Amino acid sequence: MKRKPIIAGNWKMYKTVSEALAFAQELKRAVDGIKEVEVVVCPPFTALYQVSEALRGTGIGVGAQDVYWVDEGAFTGEVSPKMLKDAGCSYVIIGHSERRQFFGEIDDNVNRKVKAVLESGLTPIMCVGERIEERESGITEKVIRTQTEAGLAGLAADQVAGMVIAYEPVWAIGTGKTASDADAQQVIGFIRGLVSDLFGADVAAKVRIQYGGSVKPQNAAGLMAQQDIDGALVGGASLDVPNFSGIVKAAA
Ligand code: PEP
Repeated sequence: MKRKPIIAGNWKMYKTVSEALAFAQELKRAVDGIKEVEVVVCPPFTALYQVSEALRGTGIGVGAQDVYWVDEGAFTGEVSPKMLKDAGCSYVIIGHSERRQFFGEIDDNVNRKVKAVLESGLTPIMCVGERIEERESGITEKVIRTQTEAGLAGLAADQVAGMVIAYEPVWAIGTGKTASDADAQQVIGFIRGLVSDLFGADVAAKVRIQYGGSVKPQNAAGLMAQQDIDGALVGGASLDVPNFSGIVKAAA
């Protein structure tokens, strides 16, 4: 089964509205005509609506970096799936390691968010990944199994088939240390195997699984050539158009 690669830029807490709009205009020109790769940018909440409007009709998608799991209510500071959809989003990053590390994100809530996002018609990009001490003590697969099984608990097969999973080893995020092509393929192949065990081979053949962690134009082609890697979730290198579009081109 041929899966369309998806390159998503996670801008984290960078870019004002005017900076985001300038980026959007430049990106439109840089990736114009590339049809074989899906391109998504994930600005901060404050720029979502305007970036969505600026990219309307281009095929470049917009995603949020987090979400709450109910549509409205007395939840100060939170943003709902319904609001993200209304702002023009089609994707939501869920369970990013920075949310897990700094903001107390736990697997049960990742699962609640994934379910709510799917029910609202948006596509989750669910992040999983091991920390360096977990890799060094040989429990990478155990950690990935726990996060993946918990995040996908209770979902229907067709929901899983349509979502995106991002394997992001925590030690590779923002550190300049990329997983080797073989290591990234090994863990992503393991995740695909887990999905097959849980939801069947057909779902495993459809679900897209990205690699994330210090992806740059220089290392993207090798990662993207791996049989189970369907694109990248990109942090630092997604903040300027030459680097980000270079990664998109490497996946094409
Ligand atoms: C990320 O934040 O999801 C990420 C992969 O960051 P970086 O590309 O900077 O390692």
